[in-house]
Amino acid sequence: MTAPVAIVTGGSAGIGWEIGRRLSVDGYLVVAADRVPGLTAAENPHGILWRELDVTDHDDVDRVFGEIEAELGPIEVLVNNAGIQRHRGIEDLSWKEWSAVVDVNLHGVFSALQAAGKRMLERGGGRIVNISSISSRGSAGRAPYATTKAAVIGLTSTAGAEWAARGVRVNAVAPGYVDTGVFRQGVEAGTLDLDTILSRIPAKRLAEASEIAAAVSFLVSDQSRYMNGQTLYVDGGFMVDYGVPLAKKPE
Ligand code: NDP
Repeated sequence: MTAPVAIVTGGSAGIGWEIGRRLSVDGYLVVAADRVPGLTAAENPHGILWRELDVTDHDDVDRVFGEIEAELGPIEVLVNNAGIQRHRGIEDLSWKEWSAVVDVNLHGVFSALQAAGKRMLERGGGRIVNISSISSRGSAGRAPYATTKAAVIGLTSTAGAEWAARGVRVNAVAPGYVDTGVFRQGVEAGTLDLDTILSRIPAKRLAEASEIAAAVSFLVSDQSRYMNGQTLYVDGGFMVDYGVPLAKKPE
């Protein structure tokens, strides 16, 4: 029996690569659909495949997903992970910067969700996980990122409701800070300060990419079969903490 196919967009690096590794361990044949190829063969013991894809090309997403199905079999799982970031205040943000983030983080998620979802609906089964972010609550200096990550939650709950009775489950994972591309670029550019961030996280540490992958693994498994349209926050307590600790212990 051939392994069920799982596509991870932006799966060549960072969190997406770790999600691919975890799904491989779970028994999936994983395709990293990314603009760039993945890691070397030595770093890829699970044999994750790579297919070139730019998620901002709506028609190409449909074409590539069709080719993957013809070659490897039905897409059972899609993880919408590809995402980019631009740090700048709203008043200074160029239209090009705004559009670039919206194109990848929102239009790209819609295109892949639709291309995989319609195929899953025809067969009456499939699981989709969209990667949002804690930035979805609002995040100064990250307007397009925060806006698109909030929109992903809206699209997730809507698709989750729309397709629940037809066997296709759609949920989201909203990670806290992980030391991978999107975060590292901000630290290296000096627009994110690690100490400030750590002080704000109740768990007092960044997330491991494997901890995000574990949540995805759960959401595509049968253990979450009664979950539709939900967003799971994997954030060390960030979202549940108001962020203003007591100045001192009460007398
Ligand atoms: P990385 O930059 O490490 O990896 C993202 C991957 O997506 C890269 O390989 C990138 O390729 C690819 N990609 C970018 N644009 C496209 C595109 N148009 N089509 C196909 N692939 C594309 O990011 P992270 O692993 O840090 O982030 C992964 C996801 O997790 C993103 O959605 C991010 O918003 C989300 N997230 C990350 C957090 C963090 O702290 N790191 C926190 C919360 C959410 P290329 O190198 O060519 O750009």
